[in-house]
Amino acid sequence: VAKRPEPRAPVVEVLGTGDELVSGAVRDANFQAAATLLGDRGYDVRGGRVVGDDLEALAGALREAASRADVVVVSGGLGPTEDDLTRDAAARVLGVPLELHGFSRRLLLSEWRRKGLPMPASTLRQAMLPRGTDFLHNSVGSAPGFRFRLGDAAVFCLPGPPREMAAMLEAKVAPLLLRLAPRPPRARSARVSCCGVTESSVGERLADLMQRGKPVRVGTSVSEGVVTVSIRGTGHAALLVGAVRNEVLRRLGADAYAAERVPPGENLVRLLVSKGLTVAAAESCTGGLVGARLTDLPGSSKAFLGGVVAYANGVKTGVLGVPGALLRKHGAVSRPVVEAMARGVRRITGADLGVAVTGVAGPGGGTAAKPVGHVWLAAADRAGVRAVERRWLGGRATVRGIAANTAIDLVRRWVERGTEAGGPRQRGVAQGTVHRAQG
Ligand code: ATP
Ligand code: MG
Repeated sequence: VAKRPEPRAPVVEVLGTGDELVSGAVRDANFQAAATLLGDRGYDVRGGRVVGDDLEALAGALREAASRADVVVVSGGLGPTEDDLTRDAAARVLGVPLELHGFSRRLLLSEWRRKGLPMPASTLRQAMLPRGTDFLHNSVGSAPGFRFRLGDAAVFCLPGPPREMAAMLEAKVAPLLLRLAPRPPRARSARVSCCGVTESSVGERLADLMQRGKPVRVGTSVSEGVVTVSIRGTGHAALLVGAVRNEVLRRLGADAYAAERVPPGENLVRLLVSKGLTVAAAESCTGGLVGARLTDLPGSSKAFLGGVVAYANGVKTGVLGVPGALLRKHGAVSRPVVEAMARGVRRITGADLGVAVTGVAGPGGGTAAKPVGHVWLAAADRAGVRAVERRWLGGRATVRGIAANTAIDLVRRWVERGTEAGGPRQRGVAQGTVHRAQG
């Protein structure tokens, strides 16, 4: 059978608009969303740029992007205020006037009626679209998007709020592109999430897979102690993505907690619910972050019973029952204290598992023996308790974020190990799907 040649990947450029992006006050989340979603589907995202709230600059950027790319995705500047100029810039490059879009106007009116407020006149600006462009319904916000052709490029103008932008990429842009732009080659991508290990340790185990020039691209990134391995193949290499993902999972063993991108807290809640187990947290330096991350998912109460933010020693002794003698002898950041915290919170809440964190988050309070970033973590169940000691570099927010994720991961490892009593350690990786774009 002759191999069908793979089509060329359509080129995508992404434009973010807003002075707050250009000044650096807001990080460009919309580029990330567009690059991930379209990249996963086989499009060649060449890059993105941000433009200030300036009509000339916006029109120029639109023209340039459309001259180079098959697809241009613009975000922001569709609201009702004077600095929302995307409609005007599009009208200028198309050489057409703005017109009132009746359906959008009715949507806006009914939205304001629901709020029980009169609609300000300026709101109507949101219902103005450049003549001849196609309206894109925004089901999660009020500013509609629109699309048009500029030269050979399909241009999509989407609202700026990241939640709205992401929803419209998925619901409107991705399906329409299959019709409006050249078809991308087939593409597949997969992700593997790890915690409790460094990025370099993951990188060493995957070094040969990560070498540049391989048909399947494997890369890592790290955020707050979570190492994400991204695996992507386009064209014929798409067929190899599943096998590479399995090889990554095999090499990472118990360090990988999910075959998808999912925060450790959400993953643990699902794991605990599936096993009918409950957990409670005793937190010192994380100040409630573990509890917050274990309640991100609706329905978390099935797995997370509650927690104690035991910041002062008096709360460690008075509420959690940590013996004062332990605190005096070993200090609050120590193995005996973190173990007593984990046992204590389990006892007072009646949870199956207790998890505890105590450490020096910084910037002050460090000593030579217990520097900033020095953290003790523990997990306890009916049968016993296990503590680990870690040292991280970074500021207060970083140390706290990594500590919370690592505490959650400690419980995850505990639960996965316990699932086969006396038997070999279970891998316990949720088998996520390989994202399949096409073909
Ligand atoms: P609105 O109707 O809310 O005014 P809009 O389409 O006019 O929406 P903007 O005014 O540009 O969009 O931005 C709305 C909000 O979304 C702002 O808080 C802005 O900082 C944020 N935002 C816009 N673009 C981005 C981006 N690329 N990354 C992250 N946040 C963004
Ligand atoms: Mg706006």
